[in-house]
Amino acid sequence: MIQQVESFGMKPTVLQGTERTVIAAIGDERNVPQGGLESGPGVDEVLPVLAPYKLASVETRKEPTVIKAGTLTIGGGMFGVIAGPCSVESEEQIVASARAIKKAGATALRGGAFKPRTSPYSFQGHKEEGLKMLATAREETGLAVVTEVVAAEDMDLVAKYSDVLQIGARNMQNYRLLEAAGKTNRPVLLKRGPSATIEELLLAAEYILDGGNQQVMLCERGIRTFEAHTRFTLPLATVPYLRQKTHLPIVVDPSHGTGHTPLVPALARASVAAGADGIIVEVHPNPEKALSDGYQSMTFKQFEDMMTGCRRVAEAMDLKM
Ligand code: PEP
Ligand code: MN
Repeated sequence: MIQQVESFGMKPTVLQGTERTVIAAIGDERNVPQGGLESGPGVDEVLPVLAPYKLASVETRKEPTVIKAGTLTIGGGMFGVIAGPCSVESEEQIVASARAIKKAGATALRGGAFKPRTSPYSFQGHKEEGLKMLATAREETGLAVVTEVVAAEDMDLVAKYSDVLQIGARNMQNYRLLEAAGKTNRPVLLKRGPSATIEELLLAAEYILDGGNQQVMLCERGIRTFEAHTRFTLPLATVPYLRQKTHLPIVVDPSHGTGHTPLVPALARASVAAGADGIIVEVHPNPEKALSDGYQSMTFKQFEDMMTGCRRVAEAMDLKM
């Protein structure tokens, strides 16, 4: 069937499910002769996908995508907690963070080695040195590492050290970067741009899926509105909306979404209640001294308390956390 799809000038993408296998045939359907696909071997049915995001759509795949990356399992009833500092600052800082968040129940470690900063004069991250520090923290704790890649030319380097590639809000529509992520075999955490629509987020994910990488999780991290009391406005309706539209796991970032530490635990709990598959939060050994995003980072104790609250909601939601 793959060859047949190709012979009609369409691109086949195979989505292996437990119940059945879907071959997404993307291209101009006018090139397919009448009944040209229906009669193929093993074909149960041929359905048009109406959504513009073909591979991300529930129309193509009904079963939820479950992403596994080392200690992190996310989707299909498994709740993932990704925690750690905004930036990797030192080996001591990242290892201490990894130990503390693991003890409190986190399933993956976050930390930026390549930082996309608003100002060119702000700390830009330790880059490859930072990646090595993350690798040390993984060796020490076993936790999967989630870290950001900001440019296509860094893709191989970041993929070498990470378990999950983070594509940040500012880069959500960097299409060459998305294509490069599509060519890796690393799961991707794709964050919503602060002025991007949900459909644009899904179409950005589509670039990665179309490139051959089916391991994509979507992250709501807040959008820009007129409200100035929070850093961004965190629309949690994104979670049930995405659930209707896509099989991809849905993650919420209440740290960037609010921009204020005291607001984070409540929005983390609300994310669980809204049906998210995971959260990503910022935790720092000493937020006041953080080189980036300290004002929205939790101390180890605050993170532990946040986890207690989230676990109670997860239990009510029948989620494994
Ligand atoms: C981050 O996770 O530290 C980050 C830069 O997030 P965002 O891309 O959502 O701004
Ligand atoms: Mn940050």
